Amino acid sequence: MITLCRRAALATTIFVLATTVLVACRTAAPPATATLTILYDNYVHDPTLESGWGFACLVETAGSTVLFDTGASGESLLKNMAALGKDPLAVDAVVLSHAHDDHTAGLAALLAAGARPKVYLLSSFGSDYLRMVRTYTEPVLVAKPTEIAPGISTTGRVTGPVPEQALVVRTAEGLTVVTGCAHPGVVKMVQQAIDATGQQVTLVLGGFHLADATEAHIKDIIDQLRELGVKRAGPSHCSGDQARALFEASFDDGYIALGVGQVVVVGP
Ligand SMILES: [Zn+2]
Ligand SMILES: [Zn+2]
Repeated sequence: MITLCRRAALATTIFVLATTVLVACRTAAPPATATLTILYDNYVHDPTLESGWGFACLVETAGSTVLFDTGASGESLLKNMAALGKDPLAVDAVVLSHAHDDHTAGLAALLAAGARPKVYLLSSFGSDYLRMVRTYTEPVLVAKPTEIAPGISTTGRVTGPVPEQALVVRTAEGLTVVTGCAHPGVVKMVQQAIDATGQQVTLVLGGFHLADATEAHIKDIIDQLRELGVKRAGPSHCSGDQARALFEASFDDGYIALGVGQVVVVGP
């Protein structure tokens, strides 16, 4: 009887230890800060850099470097990286938001320069593009929310007129969502980040696809983002001048005038 009790106690101890380890893994502390650098955009922050229609954002944490989108020109992407002191070979992973050239065309030059990142893309990408990626590295087809690196994940495929994924960066400040064009709708993409993580999104930046939207529609988007808890916003790329002005008026100090060369440090 005593032996049985001891065995039961031992089993309980092992179970508690295993559960503790599991919980610890799930709640592992994210990097305290992340540095986001806009490497490609049609809006300009640093006029010494090359700009063009498209978007690319480098996310750097203490442990990893992830490139989200690659712009429309590999030549400009690499020139801007060199000007900003960013090493293409340091890129651990590339996440491509959706299959439009202004977000994907820069990748070939990055790979040709010797970078061998994991490339995360969607099933909507064409076979020619997948073949190009496979020449250098193995593509990862994303459907569900997926962790890319500690504290950095993708929303997974968000359905819409053009399927798209957004990058989710977890720091001590909360979640940051980076969007390429947000064709499915920026609110829907932020909502998917919240649903996937159960955490609050405090900052959203990137393309919001509101260039042709009415003032009333943009104001409604702003209201919905605020209701979701968003405190700071940096609409860029395909967001449009009107949306940038309305976001600035609404978010005030929380507005980020995003453009190529802009550096956003997230965290305390
Ligand atoms: Zn775009
Ligand atoms: Zn697009």
